[in-house]
Amino acid sequence: MAFREKGILFILSGPSGVGKGTVCRALRKRGTSLKYSISVTTREPRKGEIDGVHYFFKSREEFKGMVQNNKLLEWAEYVGNFYGTPIDYVRETLDSGQDVILEIEVQGALQVKKRFDEGIFIFLAPPSLQELKKRITGRGTETASLIENRLTMAKSEIELMQHYDYVVENDEVQAACDRIEAIVTGEHCKVSRL
Ligand code: 5GP
Repeated sequence: MAFREKGILFILSGPSGVGKGTVCRALRKRGTSLKYSISVTTREPRKGEIDGVHYFFKSREEFKGMVQNNKLLEWAEYVGNFYGTPIDYVRETLDSGQDVILEIEVQGALQVKKRFDEGIFIFLAPPSLQELKKRITGRGTETASLIENRLTMAKSEIELMQHYDYVVENDEVQAACDRIEAIVTGEHCKVSRL
């Protein structure tokens, strides 16, 4: 819409294993107008991951430097590694009138909420805790104790849902994408954004 000058920041967050990455990839394939922020991380690249495409892979020193120089909109330590959202990309893209979506874990989302309250916070929820355990186990990349850690964390993260604007159940990927697209459309139609 011609009246609105700035893009909208959407934050897609939720517990580990809920399928944030899968839903985001499916959204990308749909070719929506959303722009995807690429995070910085100190974790090792997984097989097939490319620097600058899936993440910007950095050393811990480089990451600390970015934190000190206020280069990150938010950051969090997650299972021993650091993850953060480069602030310049978000700012420049929103200023150019395009929407940005962040796919981040819950602690980071709460930081964004403090700094950028006009963001739209979407909580991606599992159909049940049993289903979440199945998904985390099914990845086959985690040890038993790591799975338990992730589940304990997920339970406390689900309690933080109250800080979000929307909850989207990820019962099925395409259905979750439909709901997210509906939220994006709804936000664009708000009179208060004109
Ligand atoms: P993974 O290592 O599986 O790619 O990601 C682990 C977790 O980090 C996921 O929950 C993912 O959403 C989250 N994550 C990815 N990028 C960021 C980021 O920039 N900031 C925060 N806070 N979390 C992130």
